[in-house]
Amino acid sequence: MVDDVLYAAHVIAGARYGQATTCGSNIDYGSESSASRAAAMKTHEGAEVLEGYPCAFCRGWHIGRKMSEDELAESVLLAEWFQARHSDVFTWLAGGNDQGEVPELG
Ligand SMILES: [Zn+2]
Repeated sequence: MVDDVLYAAHVIAGARYGQATTCGSNIDYGSESSASRAAAMKTHEGAEVLEGYPCAFCRGWHIGRKMSEDELAESVLLAEWFQARHSDVFTWLAGGNDQGEVPELG
């Protein structure tokens, strides 16, 4: 199981990329384990490295391109910021974006 910060990092990254890219017509695998299995299989078949991620929009699990270390590091920073202030990433996304709470990153 991904830990809380990683989980929040993926959800936050997805929210920043937008619904069409993050959710859209992507298959919902329903759970982390199913998404991880599917990502491993498709990575094995193709050139691109894929990973499962929790969706900021439908709260399901999709698979997509694995985040680069830079993207992940930035998203983890945001997730740590979020965790210090909010108990639930989805509650924060539902209200936080409208309130302009997403911090600027240097
Ligand atoms: Zn989704």
